[in-house]
Amino acid sequence: MVRTRFAPSPTGNMHIGNLRTALFEYLIAKNSNGTFVLRIEDTDQNRYVESAMDIIFDTLRITGLNYDEGPGVGGNYGPYIQSERKDHYMPYAKELIEKGKAYYCFCSKDMPEGQQKYNRHCANLNQNEIDSKLATSEPFVIRQLIPEGKTTFCDEVFGSITIDHEEIEDQILIKSDGMPTYNFANVIDDHTMAITHVVRGSEYLTSTPKYNLLYESFGWDVPVYVHLPLMLNEQGEKLSKRRGDASFQELLDQGHLPEAVINYIAFLGWSSPDNREYFTLAELVEAFAIKNISKSPSLFDSKKLAWMNGEHIKRLPEDVFYDMALPVLQSAVHTPGINLKDVSKMVQSRILFVKDIPELVDFIDKLPNYDVDLFINKKMKTDAAIALQSLESIIPIFNDISIENWNNRTLYEVAIECGKSLSLKNSQMLWPIRTALSGKPSSPCGASELCALLGKEETLKRMDIGINKLKAL
Ligand code: GLU
Repeated sequence: MVRTRFAPSPTGNMHIGNLRTALFEYLIAKNSNGTFVLRIEDTDQNRYVESAMDIIFDTLRITGLNYDEGPGVGGNYGPYIQSERKDHYMPYAKELIEKGKAYYCFCSKDMPEGQQKYNRHCANLNQNEIDSKLATSEPFVIRQLIPEGKTTFCDEVFGSITIDHEEIEDQILIKSDGMPTYNFANVIDDHTMAITHVVRGSEYLTSTPKYNLLYESFGWDVPVYVHLPLMLNEQGEKLSKRRGDASFQELLDQGHLPEAVINYIAFLGWSSPDNREYFTLAELVEAFAIKNISKSPSLFDSKKLAWMNGEHIKRLPEDVFYDMALPVLQSAVHTPGINLKDVSKMVQSRILFVKDIPELVDFIDKLPNYDVDLFINKKMKTDAAIALQSLESIIPIFNDISIENWNNRTLYEVAIECGKSLSLKNSQMLWPIRTALSGKPSSPCGASELCALLGKEETLKRMDIGINKLKAL
Protein backbone atom coordinates (compact mmCIF):
# COMPACT_ATOMS: atom_id res chain seq x y z
CA MET A 1 0.00 0.00 0.00
CA VAL A 2 1.56 3.28 -1.14
CA ARG A 3 1.56 6.02 1.51
CA THR A 4 2.90 9.48 0.72
CA ARG A 5 2.93 12.57 2.85
CA PHE A 6 2.99 16.28 2.23
CA ALA A 7 5.00 17.80 5.05
CA PRO A 8 4.92 21.58 4.76
CA SER A 9 6.27 23.96 7.35
CA PRO A 10 3.78 26.72 8.13
CA THR A 11 6.08 29.63 7.31
CA GLY A 12 4.03 31.80 4.97
CA ASN A 13 2.40 31.64 1.57
CA MET A 14 2.23 28.41 -0.37
CA HIS A 15 4.90 28.74 -2.95
CA ILE A 16 4.85 26.89 -6.20
CA GLY A 17 7.64 24.49 -5.30
CA ASN A 18 5.71 23.33 -2.25
CA LEU A 19 2.49 22.98 -4.16
CA ARG A 20 4.25 20.87 -6.78
CA THR A 21 5.55 18.60 -4.03
CA ALA A 22 2.02 18.25 -2.67
CA LEU A 23 0.67 17.51 -6.14
CA PHE A 24 3.27 14.86 -6.95
CA GLU A 25 2.76 13.19 -3.56
CA TYR A 26 -0.98 13.18 -4.17
CA LEU A 27 -0.59 11.78 -7.68
CA ILE A 28 1.82 9.05 -6.64
CA ALA A 29 -0.52 7.96 -3.85
CA LYS A 30 -3.76 8.15 -5.84
CA ASN A 31 -2.29 6.58 -8.96
CA SER A 32 -1.93 3.37 -6.97
CA ASN A 33 -5.00 3.80 -4.78
CA GLY A 34 -2.74 4.71 -1.90
CA THR A 35 -3.04 7.12 1.00
CA PHE A 36 -2.06 10.77 0.96
CA VAL A 37 -1.14 12.16 4.37
CA LEU A 38 -0.77 15.77 5.50
CA ARG A 39 1.77 16.39 8.25
CA ILE A 40 2.44 19.90 9.48
CA GLU A 41 6.12 20.39 10.32
CA ASP A 42 6.09 23.20 12.83
CA THR A 43 8.93 22.28 15.15
CA ASP A 44 10.89 25.38 14.20
CA GLN A 45 8.84 27.80 16.25
CA ASN A 46 11.01 30.75 15.14
CA ARG A 47 9.81 30.41 11.58
CA TYR A 48 6.20 29.78 12.50
CA VAL A 49 3.63 32.11 10.92
CA GLU A 50 0.17 32.01 12.43
CA SER A 51 -1.94 32.23 9.26
CA ALA A 52 0.27 29.83 7.34
CA MET A 53 -1.49 26.76 8.65
CA ASP A 54 -4.79 28.00 7.17
CA ILE A 55 -3.05 28.76 3.90
CA ILE A 56 -1.96 25.13 3.73
CA PHE A 57 -5.47 23.81 4.44
CA ASP A 58 -7.10 26.29 2.04
CA THR A 59 -4.67 25.55 -0.77
CA LEU A 60 -5.20 21.81 -0.55
CA ARG A 61 -8.96 22.27 -0.44
CA ILE A 62 -9.08 24.74 -3.35
CA THR A 63 -6.87 22.58 -5.54
CA GLY A 64 -8.69 19.37 -4.64
CA LEU A 65 -5.58 17.72 -3.21
CA ASN A 66 -7.64 16.17 -0.47
CA TYR A 67 -5.67 14.32 2.13
CA ASP A 68 -6.80 11.03 3.62
CA GLU A 69 -5.07 11.47 6.96
CA GLY A 70 -4.01 14.63 8.71
CA PRO A 71 -5.17 17.52 10.88
CA GLY A 72 -8.94 17.66 11.03
CA VAL A 73 -9.29 14.30 9.30
CA GLY A 74 -7.47 12.06 11.73
CA GLY A 75 -6.03 8.64 10.98
CA ASN A 76 -4.23 5.91 12.87
CA TYR A 77 -0.83 7.54 12.93
CA GLY A 78 -1.57 11.00 14.36
CA PRO A 79 -1.27 13.55 15.74
CA TYR A 80 -0.30 15.04 12.41
CA ILE A 81 0.97 18.37 13.69
CA GLN A 82 4.57 17.82 14.72
CA SER A 83 4.55 20.17 17.70
CA GLU A 84 1.76 18.01 19.14
CA ARG A 85 3.97 14.95 18.71
CA LYS A 86 6.84 16.49 20.63
CA ASP A 87 7.07 13.63 23.14
CA HIS A 88 7.42 11.00 20.42
CA TYR A 89 10.96 11.90 19.51
CA MET A 90 13.05 11.95 22.70
CA PRO A 91 12.80 8.18 23.35
CA TYR A 92 14.13 7.53 19.85
CA ALA A 93 16.98 9.97 20.40
CA LYS A 94 17.85 8.24 23.68
CA GLU A 95 17.78 4.87 21.94
CA LEU A 96 20.37 6.21 19.51
CA ILE A 97 22.55 7.42 22.38
CA GLU A 98 22.42 3.95 23.90
CA LYS A 99 23.39 2.45 20.59
CA GLY A 100 26.34 4.84 20.32
CA LYS A 101 24.85 6.54 17.27
CA ALA A 102 24.16 9.87 18.94
CA TYR A 103 25.50 11.90 21.86
CA TYR A 104 24.61 14.70 24.24
CA CYS A 105 26.22 17.99 23.32
CA PHE A 106 26.53 20.75 25.90
CA CYS A 107 28.45 23.21 23.73
CA SER A 108 26.90 26.61 23.32
CA LYS A 109 24.80 27.02 20.21
CA ASP A 110 27.26 29.57 18.82
CA MET A 111 30.02 27.89 16.93
CA PRO A 112 33.50 29.45 16.98
CA GLU A 113 33.87 31.88 14.10
CA GLY A 114 34.90 30.41 10.76
CA GLN A 115 34.17 26.87 11.88
CA GLN A 116 31.92 25.08 9.43
CA LYS A 117 31.37 21.72 11.04
CA TYR A 118 30.81 20.95 14.69
CA ASN A 119 34.17 19.86 16.15
CA ARG A 120 32.74 16.85 18.03
CA HIS A 121 33.99 18.12 21.37
CA CYS A 122 31.13 16.48 23.30
CA ALA A 123 31.41 13.15 21.46
CA ASN A 124 34.51 12.62 23.59
CA LEU A 125 33.02 13.35 27.02
CA ASN A 126 33.14 10.43 29.42
CA GLN A 127 30.02 9.08 31.11
CA ASN A 128 30.79 10.80 34.44
CA GLU A 129 31.09 14.18 32.75
CA ILE A 130 27.85 13.62 30.92
CA ASP A 131 26.01 12.46 34.04
CA SER A 132 27.11 15.41 36.12
CA LYS A 133 26.12 17.90 33.41
CA LEU A 134 22.73 16.26 33.10
CA ALA A 135 22.36 16.22 36.89
CA THR A 136 22.95 19.99 37.05
CA SER A 137 20.45 20.53 34.21
CA GLU A 138 22.99 21.98 31.84
CA PRO A 139 21.22 22.73 28.56
CA PHE A 140 22.00 20.23 25.89
CA VAL A 141 21.21 19.20 22.36
CA ILE A 142 21.47 15.67 21.00
CA ARG A 143 23.65 15.16 17.94
CA GLN A 144 23.87 12.32 15.49
CA LEU A 145 27.29 10.65 15.37
CA ILE A 146 28.16 10.36 11.72
CA PRO A 147 30.53 7.45 11.12
CA GLU A 148 33.38 7.58 8.61
CA GLY A 149 32.65 6.27 5.17
CA LYS A 150 30.26 6.86 2.32
CA THR A 151 26.57 6.36 1.71
CA THR A 152 25.14 5.33 -1.62
CA PHE A 153 21.44 5.40 -2.20
CA CYS A 154 19.09 5.20 -5.11
CA ASP A 155 16.70 7.97 -5.95
CA GLU A 156 13.85 7.24 -8.35
CA VAL A 157 14.57 10.41 -10.33
CA PHE A 158 18.28 11.14 -9.82
CA GLY A 159 19.50 7.55 -9.84
CA SER A 160 22.40 6.33 -7.72
CA ILE A 161 23.99 8.98 -5.50
CA THR A 162 27.06 8.58 -3.33
CA ILE A 163 27.98 11.04 -0.63
CA ASP A 164 31.14 10.98 1.45
CA HIS A 165 30.44 11.37 5.16
CA GLU A 166 33.26 13.91 5.26
CA GLU A 167 30.70 16.34 3.87
CA ILE A 168 28.17 15.66 6.62
CA GLU A 169 28.03 17.30 10.02
CA ASP A 170 27.01 15.65 13.30
CA GLN A 171 23.58 17.18 12.92
CA ILE A 172 21.41 18.17 15.85
CA LEU A 173 18.52 15.76 16.36
CA ILE A 174 16.97 17.29 19.48
CA LYS A 175 17.24 21.01 20.15
CA SER A 176 17.85 22.58 23.55
CA ASP A 177 14.11 23.28 23.89
CA GLY A 178 13.44 19.56 23.56
CA MET A 179 11.95 19.90 20.10
CA PRO A 180 13.26 17.63 17.37
CA THR A 181 14.89 19.20 14.35
CA TYR A 182 13.36 18.65 10.94
CA ASN A 183 16.27 16.34 10.19
CA PHE A 184 15.28 13.98 12.98
CA ALA A 185 11.52 14.35 13.02
CA ASN A 186 11.11 13.61 9.32
CA VAL A 187 12.77 10.22 9.72
CA ILE A 188 10.90 9.23 12.89
CA ASP A 189 7.59 10.39 11.47
CA ASP A 190 8.04 8.91 8.03
CA HIS A 191 8.79 5.56 9.61
CA THR A 192 6.11 5.64 12.32
CA MET A 193 3.53 6.88 9.82
CA ALA A 194 4.45 4.01 7.48
CA ILE A 195 5.31 6.37 4.62
CA THR A 196 6.48 4.34 1.63
CA HIS A 197 7.48 7.15 -0.77
CA VAL A 198 9.22 10.32 0.33
CA VAL A 199 8.79 13.04 -2.28
CA ARG A 200 10.59 16.36 -1.85
CA GLY A 201 12.74 18.95 -3.59
CA SER A 202 16.21 18.03 -4.81
CA GLU A 203 17.73 20.38 -2.19
CA TYR A 204 17.26 17.45 0.21
CA LEU A 205 19.36 15.02 -1.85
CA THR A 206 22.57 15.74 0.01
CA SER A 207 20.89 15.32 3.40
CA THR A 208 19.49 11.92 2.52
CA PRO A 209 22.57 9.93 3.69
CA LYS A 210 22.10 11.40 7.20
CA TYR A 211 18.55 10.13 7.19
CA ASN A 212 19.58 6.74 5.83
CA LEU A 213 22.13 6.39 8.65
CA LEU A 214 19.29 7.00 11.08
CA TYR A 215 17.04 4.42 9.43
CA GLU A 216 19.94 1.97 9.52
CA SER A 217 20.66 2.66 13.20
CA PHE A 218 17.09 1.78 14.07
CA GLY A 219 17.04 -1.19 11.71
CA TRP A 220 14.21 0.34 9.69
CA ASP A 221 13.63 0.12 5.95
CA VAL A 222 14.54 3.20 3.96
CA PRO A 223 11.57 4.64 2.02
CA VAL A 224 11.51 5.05 -1.74
CA TYR A 225 12.99 8.46 -2.52
CA VAL A 226 11.57 10.69 -5.22
CA HIS A 227 13.47 13.97 -5.35
CA LEU A 228 11.98 16.56 -7.64
CA PRO A 229 14.03 18.72 -10.01
CA LEU A 230 14.88 22.33 -9.34
CA MET A 231 12.44 24.96 -10.51
CA LEU A 232 13.83 28.00 -12.24
CA ASN A 233 12.16 31.33 -12.90
CA GLU A 234 12.23 33.09 -16.26
CA GLN A 235 15.62 34.58 -15.40
CA GLY A 236 17.04 31.10 -14.87
CA GLU A 237 17.28 31.57 -11.09
CA LYS A 238 15.99 29.14 -8.51
CA LEU A 239 12.31 29.85 -7.97
CA SER A 240 11.89 31.53 -4.62
CA LYS A 241 9.49 33.64 -2.66
CA ARG A 242 12.31 35.93 -1.66
CA ARG A 243 13.03 36.77 -5.30
CA GLY A 244 9.41 37.76 -5.71
CA ASP A 245 8.28 34.69 -7.62
CA ALA A 246 4.57 34.21 -7.34
CA SER A 247 2.98 32.09 -4.66
CA PHE A 248 -0.18 30.08 -5.27
CA GLN A 249 -2.24 32.85 -3.63
CA GLU A 250 -0.71 35.45 -5.94
CA LEU A 251 -1.42 33.33 -8.99
CA LEU A 252 -5.08 33.14 -7.92
CA ASP A 253 -5.14 36.90 -7.37
CA GLN A 254 -3.81 37.34 -10.90
CA GLY A 255 -6.83 35.43 -12.17
CA HIS A 256 -5.49 31.92 -12.64
CA LEU A 257 -7.89 29.07 -12.03
CA PRO A 258 -6.69 26.55 -9.44
CA GLU A 259 -7.18 23.70 -11.92
CA ALA A 260 -5.00 25.48 -14.49
CA VAL A 261 -2.25 26.03 -11.93
CA ILE A 262 -2.39 22.35 -10.97
CA ASN A 263 -2.31 21.27 -14.61
CA TYR A 264 0.62 23.59 -15.30
CA ILE A 265 2.75 22.65 -12.32
CA ALA A 266 2.30 18.95 -13.09
CA PHE A 267 4.53 19.70 -16.06
CA LEU A 268 7.22 21.26 -13.92
CA GLY A 269 9.21 18.07 -13.76
CA TRP A 270 6.81 15.55 -15.23
CA SER A 271 5.89 15.01 -18.86
CA SER A 272 3.01 13.15 -20.34
CA PRO A 273 4.15 10.30 -22.58
CA ASP A 274 1.65 11.21 -25.30
CA ASN A 275 2.45 14.94 -25.29
CA ARG A 276 -1.03 15.86 -24.19
CA GLU A 277 -1.14 19.11 -22.27
CA TYR A 278 -4.64 19.61 -20.91
CA PHE A 279 -5.37 17.50 -17.84
CA THR A 280 -7.88 17.60 -15.04
CA LEU A 281 -6.65 16.43 -11.66
CA ALA A 282 -8.44 13.09 -12.13
CA GLU A 283 -6.76 12.67 -15.52
CA LEU A 284 -3.38 13.46 -13.98
CA VAL A 285 -3.96 10.74 -11.40
CA GLU A 286 -4.53 8.27 -14.24
CA ALA A 287 -1.60 9.36 -16.36
CA PHE A 288 1.06 10.03 -13.74
CA ALA A 289 4.10 7.79 -13.46
CA ILE A 290 7.27 8.36 -11.44
CA LYS A 291 9.35 7.15 -14.38
CA ASN A 292 8.26 10.21 -16.37
CA ILE A 293 9.69 12.68 -13.88
CA SER A 294 12.79 14.35 -15.26
CA LYS A 295 15.81 15.41 -13.25
CA SER A 296 16.60 18.45 -15.38
CA PRO A 297 15.52 21.77 -13.92
CA SER A 298 12.10 22.91 -14.99
CA LEU A 299 11.36 26.44 -16.07
CA PHE A 300 8.38 28.32 -14.69
CA ASP A 301 6.98 30.08 -17.74
CA SER A 302 4.18 32.48 -16.88
CA LYS A 303 3.12 32.77 -20.55
CA LYS A 304 2.61 29.03 -20.75
CA LEU A 305 0.65 29.13 -17.52
CA ALA A 306 -1.54 31.92 -18.93
CA TRP A 307 -2.17 29.80 -22.04
CA MET A 308 -3.07 26.86 -19.82
CA ASN A 309 -5.49 29.11 -17.97
CA GLY A 310 -7.21 29.92 -21.26
CA GLU A 311 -7.51 26.21 -22.03
CA HIS A 312 -9.22 25.59 -18.69
CA ILE A 313 -11.51 28.59 -19.08
CA LYS A 314 -12.59 27.32 -22.51
CA ARG A 315 -13.63 23.99 -21.08
CA LEU A 316 -15.62 25.30 -18.13
CA PRO A 317 -19.35 24.56 -18.34
CA GLU A 318 -21.03 27.66 -19.82
CA ASP A 319 -23.00 28.45 -16.69
CA VAL A 320 -19.96 28.10 -14.42
CA PHE A 321 -18.05 30.50 -16.63
CA TYR A 322 -21.02 32.88 -16.75
CA ASP A 323 -21.21 33.04 -12.94
CA MET A 324 -17.49 33.68 -12.78
CA ALA A 325 -17.54 36.34 -15.50
CA LEU A 326 -20.75 38.11 -14.50
CA PRO A 327 -19.27 40.78 -12.19
CA VAL A 328 -16.74 41.71 -14.87
CA LEU A 329 -19.38 41.68 -17.61
CA GLN A 330 -21.66 43.87 -15.53
CA SER A 331 -18.98 46.43 -15.03
CA ALA A 332 -17.89 46.32 -18.68
CA VAL A 333 -21.26 46.43 -20.47
CA HIS A 334 -23.89 49.03 -19.55
CA THR A 335 -26.00 49.18 -22.71
CA PRO A 336 -29.59 48.24 -21.85
CA GLY A 337 -30.99 45.17 -23.57
CA ILE A 338 -27.67 43.44 -24.10
CA ASN A 339 -27.88 39.78 -23.18
CA LEU A 340 -24.85 39.19 -20.98
CA LYS A 341 -25.25 35.42 -21.30
CA ASP A 342 -24.67 35.79 -25.03
CA VAL A 343 -21.65 37.98 -24.41
CA SER A 344 -20.35 35.44 -21.93
CA LYS A 345 -20.61 32.64 -24.53
CA MET A 346 -18.84 34.78 -27.10
CA VAL A 347 -15.85 35.58 -24.95
CA GLN A 348 -15.36 32.29 -23.13
CA SER A 349 -13.07 30.72 -25.69
CA ARG A 350 -11.25 33.94 -26.50
CA ILE A 351 -9.63 34.93 -23.25
CA LEU A 352 -6.77 33.79 -21.08
CA PHE A 353 -8.15 35.51 -17.98
CA VAL A 354 -11.57 36.82 -16.95
CA LYS A 355 -9.91 40.22 -16.62
CA ASP A 356 -9.35 40.18 -20.42
CA ILE A 357 -13.09 40.51 -21.02
CA PRO A 358 -13.57 44.33 -20.86
CA GLU A 359 -11.09 44.93 -23.65
CA LEU A 360 -12.92 42.44 -25.88
CA VAL A 361 -16.38 43.87 -25.32
CA ASP A 362 -15.71 47.61 -25.05
CA PHE A 363 -17.25 48.16 -28.52
CA ILE A 364 -20.68 47.19 -27.18
CA ASP A 365 -21.24 50.35 -25.16
CA LYS A 366 -19.45 52.62 -27.57
CA LEU A 367 -18.42 52.20 -31.19
CA PRO A 368 -14.71 53.09 -31.32
CA ASN A 369 -13.69 55.92 -33.61
CA TYR A 370 -12.03 53.53 -36.03
CA ASP A 371 -10.00 54.14 -39.13
CA VAL A 372 -11.82 53.52 -42.42
CA ASP A 373 -8.86 51.40 -43.56
CA LEU A 374 -10.21 48.67 -41.33
CA PHE A 375 -12.70 47.86 -44.09
CA ILE A 376 -9.86 47.10 -46.47
CA ASN A 377 -8.54 43.64 -45.77
CA LYS A 378 -6.46 41.59 -48.17
CA LYS A 379 -7.23 38.27 -46.57
CA MET A 380 -10.96 38.93 -46.73
CA LYS A 381 -10.52 40.27 -50.26
CA THR A 382 -12.29 43.49 -49.40
CA ASP A 383 -11.62 47.01 -50.55
CA ALA A 384 -13.54 50.25 -50.01
CA ALA A 385 -15.86 49.71 -52.99
CA ILE A 386 -16.76 46.19 -51.92
CA ALA A 387 -17.35 47.34 -48.35
CA LEU A 388 -19.64 50.09 -49.50
CA GLN A 389 -21.52 47.70 -51.76
CA SER A 390 -21.96 45.19 -48.92
CA LEU A 391 -23.26 47.73 -46.43
CA GLU A 392 -25.50 49.64 -48.83
CA SER A 393 -27.16 46.49 -50.13
CA ILE A 394 -27.76 44.87 -46.76
CA ILE A 395 -29.31 47.90 -45.07
CA PRO A 396 -32.70 47.71 -46.81
CA ILE A 397 -32.81 43.93 -46.29
CA PHE A 398 -32.06 44.24 -42.59
CA ASN A 399 -34.56 47.07 -42.37
CA ASP A 400 -37.28 44.69 -43.53
CA ILE A 401 -36.54 42.14 -40.82
CA SER A 402 -38.92 42.44 -37.91
CA ILE A 403 -37.63 42.68 -34.34
CA GLU A 404 -39.11 39.20 -33.67
CA ASN A 405 -37.02 37.72 -36.46
CA TRP A 406 -33.91 39.65 -35.56
CA ASN A 407 -31.68 36.73 -34.69
CA ASN A 408 -28.30 35.41 -35.66
CA ARG A 409 -29.57 32.68 -37.96
CA THR A 410 -31.93 34.83 -40.00
CA LEU A 411 -29.42 37.65 -40.24
CA TYR A 412 -26.70 35.27 -41.37
CA GLU A 413 -28.90 33.67 -44.00
CA VAL A 414 -30.08 36.94 -45.52
CA ALA A 415 -26.56 38.37 -45.52
CA ILE A 416 -25.16 35.29 -47.32
CA GLU A 417 -28.07 35.38 -49.77
CA CYS A 418 -27.44 39.05 -50.45
CA GLY A 419 -23.72 38.38 -50.99
CA LYS A 420 -24.54 35.66 -53.52
CA SER A 421 -26.82 37.93 -55.48
CA LEU A 422 -23.97 40.45 -55.69
CA SER A 423 -21.44 37.72 -56.56
CA LEU A 424 -19.50 38.54 -53.41
CA LYS A 425 -17.69 35.92 -51.41
CA ASN A 426 -19.01 35.38 -47.87
CA SER A 427 -16.01 37.15 -46.38
CA GLN A 428 -16.52 40.14 -48.70
CA MET A 429 -20.11 40.42 -47.57
CA LEU A 430 -19.58 39.82 -43.87
CA TRP A 431 -16.26 41.56 -43.12
CA PRO A 432 -17.63 45.05 -43.78
CA ILE A 433 -20.66 44.38 -41.56
CA ARG A 434 -18.47 43.02 -38.78
CA THR A 435 -16.16 46.01 -39.06
CA ALA A 436 -18.97 48.56 -39.08
CA LEU A 437 -20.52 47.00 -35.98
CA SER A 438 -17.39 46.54 -33.88
CA GLY A 439 -15.04 49.19 -35.19
CA LYS A 440 -12.22 46.83 -34.31
CA PRO A 441 -9.87 44.57 -36.24
CA SER A 442 -11.18 41.61 -34.30
CA SER A 443 -14.31 40.89 -32.35
CA PRO A 444 -15.46 38.02 -30.17
CA CYS A 445 -17.98 36.86 -32.78
CA GLY A 446 -18.92 37.18 -36.42
CA ALA A 447 -21.04 39.75 -38.27
CA SER A 448 -24.52 38.29 -37.81
CA GLU A 449 -23.95 37.50 -34.13
CA LEU A 450 -22.86 41.09 -33.60
CA CYS A 451 -26.02 42.34 -35.29
CA ALA A 452 -28.16 40.06 -33.15
CA LEU A 453 -26.39 41.15 -30.00
CA LEU A 454 -26.54 44.90 -30.63
CA GLY A 455 -30.14 44.92 -31.93
CA LYS A 456 -31.71 46.32 -35.06
CA GLU A 457 -31.57 50.00 -34.30
CA GLU A 458 -27.93 50.06 -33.25
CA THR A 459 -26.94 47.79 -36.14
CA LEU A 460 -28.45 50.09 -38.71
CA LYS A 461 -26.97 53.14 -37.01
CA ARG A 462 -23.46 51.68 -37.00
CA MET A 463 -23.74 50.59 -40.63
CA ASP A 464 -24.66 54.15 -41.56
CA ILE A 465 -21.59 55.43 -39.78
CA GLY A 466 -19.51 52.92 -41.80
CA ILE A 467 -21.08 54.03 -45.04
CA ASN A 468 -20.36 57.69 -44.24
CA LYS A 469 -16.72 56.87 -43.48
CA LEU A 470 -16.40 54.98 -46.77
CA LYS A 471 -18.07 57.75 -48.74
CA ALA A 472 -15.75 60.34 -47.25
CA LEU A 473 -12.72 58.52 -48.65
N1 GLU B 1 9.05 20.64 6.14
C1 GLU B 1 9.90 20.37 5.01
C2 GLU B 1 9.74 21.51 4.02
O1 GLU B 1 8.76 22.22 4.08
C3 GLU B 1 9.48 19.08 4.37
C4 GLU B 1 10.50 18.43 3.55
C5 GLU B 1 10.10 16.98 3.33
O2 GLU B 1 9.18 16.77 2.56
O3 GLU B 1 10.69 16.10 3.94
O4 GLU B 1 10.61 21.71 3.21
